[in-house]
Amino acid sequence: MSIPHDDPKLEEIDRLVNKLSGQRCLCRTCGKKFNSTAAFDKHRSGSISERRCLTSREMRERRMSLNARGYWITSKMPARPKDSLAFWPMAGPRKS
Ligand SMILES: [Zn+2]
Repeated sequence: MSIPHDDPKLEEIDRLVNKLSGQRCLCRTCGKKFNSTAAFDKHRSGSISERRCLTSREMRERRMSLNARGYWITSKMPARPKDSLAFWPMAGPRKS
């Protein structure tokens, strides 16, 4: 006996939620609302067997934010590779 990997019922609910609200998602687990499936996906953390929701604080740490309507959105900033966080060349006066 093997446990089915995907629960078709959950997938169906996801489909219905998306149908009702366009791109917007309501998380059944934490009750937060998301402006896009991408934002929703981003707030789910961990491997498939240990999926959990990020807290509001964790989402902010990942540069997610709430929009005016109370929906979580992903950052519009492109993700940077970790290496580039250390040094950004800054424009400024040059010492000669
Ligand atoms: Zn959630």
